[in-house]
Amino acid sequence: RPRGSEELIRAEEPVLAHNYHPLPVVVARAEGCWVEDVEGRRYLDLLAGYSALNFGHRHPALVEAAHRQLDRLTLTSRAFHNDRLAGFAERLAALTGTDMVLPMNTGAEAVESGIKVARKWAYDVKGVPDGRATIVVAADNFHGRTTTIVSFSTDESARAGFGPFTPGFRVVPYNDLAALEAAVDETTAAVLIEPVQGEAGVIVPDDGYLTGVRELTRRANCLFVADEIQSGLGRTGHTLAVEHERVRPDVVLLGKALGGGIVPVSAVVGRREVLGVLHPGEHGSTFGGNPLAAAVGTAVVELLETGEYQRRAAELAPVLRDGLQALTGRGVVGFRARGLWAGVDVDPALGTGREISERLMREGVLVKDTHGSTIRLAPPLTITRGELEEALGTLEKVLTA
Ligand code: PLP
Repeated sequence: RPRGSEELIRAEEPVLAHNYHPLPVVVARAEGCWVEDVEGRRYLDLLAGYSALNFGHRHPALVEAAHRQLDRLTLTSRAFHNDRLAGFAERLAALTGTDMVLPMNTGAEAVESGIKVARKWAYDVKGVPDGRATIVVAADNFHGRTTTIVSFSTDESARAGFGPFTPGFRVVPYNDLAALEAAVDETTAAVLIEPVQGEAGVIVPDDGYLTGVRELTRRANCLFVADEIQSGLGRTGHTLAVEHERVRPDVVLLGKALGGGIVPVSAVVGRREVLGVLHPGEHGSTFGGNPLAAAVGTAVVELLETGEYQRRAAELAPVLRDGLQALTGRGVVGFRARGLWAGVDVDPALGTGREISERLMREGVLVKDTHGSTIRLAPPLTITRGELEEALGTLEKVLTA
């Protein structure tokens, strides 16, 4: 007898580490923007796997690329070459306007790899004395969960109990160029920031901030590393969120949607003078650049090369923005949006973000709260205008009922 949702949720409790507090929905299948639970109830997915599902669930072209590759070759390790990796790197470098690709698997690994590359560049190219390199990051950042990355988190729940921490990071307020200027010195290897801070609640910096970071890092002879793991690959209406200001970082970190929601694929992409600091034996990953990942990643790049998904995000952005504007003062106290991505601050009198998310779930819409009374909307970029309006209608119903 197959187990129902409640039974499955109860079954997790004794056997799964309690590092998550999922909404009480047990998904069994999905297609496009829709997921279905064990009992066959349907939900519109407005989280899209934290932007890992930018192309929706099981996009036919991505599933087909995965199937084709599964029948041919799945893993070689980098001890050997595989026939899919060169094409993936060429296409991804071209898409992002860079020279070189360092393939990894998860977002945190891409960030760790970006940090290592930046430090090595500081010693080998900039001439920072060994062991002295610093990296400047922003407060309220989210770059992942490894020990080095939580070392420069400012979220106590991400850090407490996990020390000792990795030294060599300086934290400055986000969206504050003067603070950044004051923190950068001759030891600085890189400035590492999210072009839009996702987990912090979709914090969009002022126009000019990214340009300012670019100019400052160039003047100070340090790298600009943009973490586009959540903001990149179409979400904001551009291939990369930095394109909003036509800025080119030295290094871009990609993940999430790069694997098409099928396999974990991440990458560090950047100029040859930077990624060229790595030599054989200095860095690696058993699974990074595996042929299945490369095949799916190539199919993702092909989808983005059409420009269709970036265009959809840009075209639907006003629908999302206008819908949230109309709810402002009627349950919404504020919001920030860029492309098909919004952080919505709900009137705390109506409930916590968690409670609002649960009410939305009962009405057939899946979202996730971030901090306090903020919920995050990040639908698949394949969502139709009608579906988006339907979801905004459900939000209105939940907030004004
Ligand atoms: N960087 C950013 C900006 C993210 O939003 C995330 C995940 O939410 C990560 C890094 C970490 O990615 P992963 O969970 O794949 O390690």
